[in-house]
Amino acid sequence: MKKPKLRELGEAIKAVIKGPYTTKFPFVAPSIYPEFRGKPVFVEENCILCGACEQICPVDAIDVRDIINDDGTATRIMHRNYNQCIWCSMCSQLCTVGDGNIFGDKAGIKITNEFDLSTLDKETAQEQIEGELVLCEKCGKPITSKKHLLWLAERLGTKAFQNQTLFLTKMKELGLTDEEYPYTTDEILREDLNKILCPSCRRAAMMKEDWGF
Ligand code: SF4
Ligand code: SF4
Repeated sequence: MKKPKLRELGEAIKAVIKGPYTTKFPFVAPSIYPEFRGKPVFVEENCILCGACEQICPVDAIDVRDIINDDGTATRIMHRNYNQCIWCSMCSQLCTVGDGNIFGDKAGIKITNEFDLSTLDKETAQEQIEGELVLCEKCGKPITSKKHLLWLAERLGTKAFQNQTLFLTKMKELGLTDEEYPYTTDEILREDLNKILCPSCRRAAMMKEDWGF
């Protein structure tokens, strides 16, 4: 029989005296580095439901679901599937409202230290948040979330008054107008400029205003 080398023998004696090198997880929680990039989670109070993280995610773990309800209202859902997520943190680092710090408190997605995601329940392998979706008052197509429009209006300050969609969304939020226009597919008119419009309808209304067609 081959004799063990001295170094290996030393390691074996040390292990007998000090105990095993491995932790007793899951019975004992392991110590985690504060910068360990674990499970990403949406932060509802920060997220403006802009959908940029869906574009950034390299594995399509995030999807934006725009739903038009029977009562004419609309909802945007930001949904994440943890079965696809590779914990790269790009969604948090490049979040529209974040400052690049994935552990900070500004971004719409926070990277937690949580790593133990084994489950038999598919429902716990996903998460979602939702908010109001704004529809074009001319064609009825989704524009973006209300929170996104209000965030843009806030960032632009007085410059937001140049865009009626931002201006009217802000006015409605402040309760200064409660005008609602059920959408119609009628011909676009100059007066439609003063409605909440998607980019295509605003372009068409501008053409009507400037060129008459
Ligand atoms: S605010 Fe950030 S987390 Fe929320 S949808 Fe936009 S990019 Fe994603
Ligand atoms: S951590 Fe990476 S893979 Fe996971 S949702 Fe964010 S961008 Fe996608």
